[in-house]
Amino acid sequence: MRLFQNKYMELAIAEAKKSMQEEIPIGAVIIDKNSYEIFSATHNQSITLCDSTAHAEILAIRETCRKTNNYRLDNCILYTTIEPCIMCYGAILQARIPIIYFGAYNSKYGAIENNFSILNNNIPHKPQIYGGIYEDECKQLLQDFFSRKRNKKPC
Ligand SMILES: [Zn+2]
Repeated sequence: MRLFQNKYMELAIAEAKKSMQEEIPIGAVIIDKNSYEIFSATHNQSITLCDSTAHAEILAIRETCRKTNNYRLDNCILYTTIEPCIMCYGAILQARIPIIYFGAYNSKYGAIENNFSILNNNIPHKPQIYGGIYEDECKQLLQDFFSRKRNKKPC
């Protein structure tokens, strides 16, 4: 049985689109893995909040911790439109999120499949991770964003 449900990744993509003007378009959603209740749906806000840690996944984890009044999210599933960076993956481990679905692979900052080989470690919490969900859509959002940014004329 495939645990992920398309509609949650579609919601994460919709969140990513909210940040397309200024922020890198990345969205994240956290749901309850049993009831499928949506705890949070967020997008990158590093520039908006002037906070380099305000990645979609971090904001989703913070909001879910507040809503559930629990610093452990071991009953949750995280959907994110991109392979989490090392900071976000660290937060995922600290929160004990057991299941992660991500969209685009992140060759520059990805912590799971790329660069850091973070899975080859002795950390006892090992989430189930599924990459490449809606990969083309998630990748296209990023490509469009960076293409627009490159073509933007200076003021
Ligand atoms: Zn991140």
